[in-house]
Amino acid sequence: MDYSIVVDVFNEMEATSKRTELTDLIVRLLKSTPKELIDKVVYLMLGRLKPEYEGIELGIADKMALRALSISSGIDMKKVEEMYVRRGDIGEAAEEALSKRLQSVLFKDRLTVERVYSTLEKVAMLKGEGSQDVKIRYLCNLLNDAEPREGKYILKMVTAKLRLGIADYTLLDALAIAFTESKENREVLERAYNLTSDLGLVARVLVYGGLDAVKAIRMELFRPIRPMLAERVSSAEEALGRMGGRCAAEYKLDGERLQIHKHDDTVKIFSRRLEDITNHYPDAVDAIAGIRRARDLIVEGEAVAINQDTQEYLPFQELMHRRRKYGIEEAMKEYPITLNLFDILYIDGKECIDLPYMERRRILEDLISDVESSNSSSMVSIVPMLMVSDAKSIEDYMFKAINEGCEGLMLKDLNSPYRAGARGYAWIKLKREYRSELADTLDLVVVGAFHGRGRRTGRYGALLLASYNREDDTFYTVCKVGTGFTDEDLERFHTMLSPYILKHRHVRVNSRLDADVWFEPKIVIEVIASEITLSPLHTCALNVIREGNGLALRFPKFTGRIRDDKNAEDATSVDEIVSMYRRQLKVTRQVQSNEGSADRIE
Ligand code: AMP
Repeated sequence: MDYSIVVDVFNEMEATSKRTELTDLIVRLLKSTPKELIDKVVYLMLGRLKPEYEGIELGIADKMALRALSISSGIDMKKVEEMYVRRGDIGEAAEEALSKRLQSVLFKDRLTVERVYSTLEKVAMLKGEGSQDVKIRYLCNLLNDAEPREGKYILKMVTAKLRLGIADYTLLDALAIAFTESKENREVLERAYNLTSDLGLVARVLVYGGLDAVKAIRMELFRPIRPMLAERVSSAEEALGRMGGRCAAEYKLDGERLQIHKHDDTVKIFSRRLEDITNHYPDAVDAIAGIRRARDLIVEGEAVAINQDTQEYLPFQELMHRRRKYGIEEAMKEYPITLNLFDILYIDGKECIDLPYMERRRILEDLISDVESSNSSSMVSIVPMLMVSDAKSIEDYMFKAINEGCEGLMLKDLNSPYRAGARGYAWIKLKREYRSELADTLDLVVVGAFHGRGRRTGRYGALLLASYNREDDTFYTVCKVGTGFTDEDLERFHTMLSPYILKHRHVRVNSRLDADVWFEPKIVIEVIASEITLSPLHTCALNVIREGNGLALRFPKFTGRIRDDKNAEDATSVDEIVSMYRRQLKVTRQVQSNEGSADRIE
């Protein structure tokens, strides 16, 4: 397959700001791809070479990519760098440099997708001493044969700057349209994706074996399953109502979610975003590898930092010490953790995800009681749980959990299977919401920024934040936040956001405000606010409560916490904000009516 076919569609994708057009373009590209390349083209569209969990990073330094461009075009490095600065985009710089190429290459080989992919794969895999020179050589080799517009996308890919705005869900839609003739089949594809976290694999199975083969896809050890997620409700009563009057209340611990796969002594740990974070937790690896009762396991749990003397849970921030490349052994000693399991998805050839919660919990309890009896000092335990059937017991248990350092409770439907990749009411999170005003935090996506003035000149003065709406896969703005930032935060945001700067608003962002700078929706931050109000400026839940108005946060403030365990799509949703707004109204009315009655008594 000629690489130019892919490149032409990429060019059109970049030019569109409509999601339906984007889907059509993906469908066209998928249909013109030979079967044996379908997975590779899927990964390339997503700016990757493999499923995300394999952790194969392209991202070579701009400087190195520019050097290859300079060698291949015969244009001085300084001039090439100037082009980059002037165009503000490495791809465009490549296109310009290659079209001004000094030595015209007479006999060029046409670039194929196979060749581009395998060369990029080699570039990504090369490590160690001397690898830089070899990488540059590989890149030059490609650029020498590339048309200028092909060079543009090669450089965007290798520097991890290809941003076509394609969400996983858009790709699933497109696959269903391209190969099953009906968008309705997307559910089948989505199930397979949730079990494998690999869109390339789903595409390959679909084109070779059709829908039946996709239906037969199963979970596998060492391939992460997309996590089940929780909803919020306004009260313990509502939660009970949704769960048939009885449910399990588990402690909601404030740590990092781990999905742990084990076969004999081999253990791998995936984060909530399905990155391989085995290296962060050598102690958890040992503890799980040491479980002799089961050869094969997939379990989920929360790693929580603890105070070794008192055995009390410590806040999430303490886990940050684990995210380092070096000195992890010291970090392990200094910042010990406990591993609190809350689910089991697989054990010795038996899939557990379709079993009801109660049965999974029983299997997990059996396993853990064995672990505890065989090793009394084990760091592995099961999350505390209480069966509840009235609001009072939920509130009491919540109080106990919070007193012990938890965030609140996780209520779980006794009959629900493990719904991979789904957010639903089978799990409901209840956090502290008893304080006045909005005590709950929101996790919002940074989609834009405004330049700072005065002390903040050269930094961002405020960030434009958005919530996520799953139905149309779009981010809707909900506030501008400019408080709560320390000087380090300002610095950090500037560096952290710069790889995601876009020329114009992202296709999946809906905003009435015009930001000075737009970003690809990637970074999620935590904010608090005094309340949610109606606002004509923001698009979150526009026209839902009142015509012409959306919902906005009043007095938003950054809490200092960057939620890098969350993808943009895991941000607080528009629906959640609507229900928080409604809940807040109820509370206000209650307070007003109480105040009213007090007035009358007086
Ligand atoms: P949130 O990040 O606020 O959407 O809350 C969901 C997260 O709570 C999960 O991804 C887990 O990391 C965490 N969590 C803590 N305790 C539990 C529990 N008992 N069951 C499930 N998730 C839990």
